[in-house]
Amino acid sequence: MWNEHALQRCNTCRQTIGVMRAKACLGILALLVNACTPIAHQRVEGWPELMVVEHHVPHNEMRDRCARYVGFGEVPEACAEFDLAAKRCDIWYSADFPPQRWIVQHERMHCAGYDHAGASDMQELLRQYRRGG
Ligand SMILES: [Zn+2]
Repeated sequence: MWNEHALQRCNTCRQTIGVMRAKACLGILALLVNACTPIAHQRVEGWPELMVVEHHVPHNEMRDRCARYVGFGEVPEACAEFDLAAKRCDIWYSADFPPQRWIVQHERMHCAGYDHAGASDMQELLRQYRRGG
């Protein structure tokens, strides 16, 4: 769970969050998981139960996969990709630089339907999915 150290790290980090809609017709949606931003205490309403699949891949593979979700010049530590149609949440970690415990916790919270505090990206993602199929 969150500890003071993790929260302090979040406050000093300035990465941004981004939402990507890869293939709308297939309902494949992806969201950056920015491990630096605190997670909200409220779950997105109606968020489906997703099967969590965690992948520990070579660092460059994680980076290639996750880089599209971060801003220019920023380095991803991990990311989660939601496939709401398949009810699946894939988390990608670097096997070369194993994630700290709180990062793992953070990613899993996203899969469970928790967005960053003050953010509505995941809520919007769910709304888009429901609207478009
Ligand atoms: Zn996050």
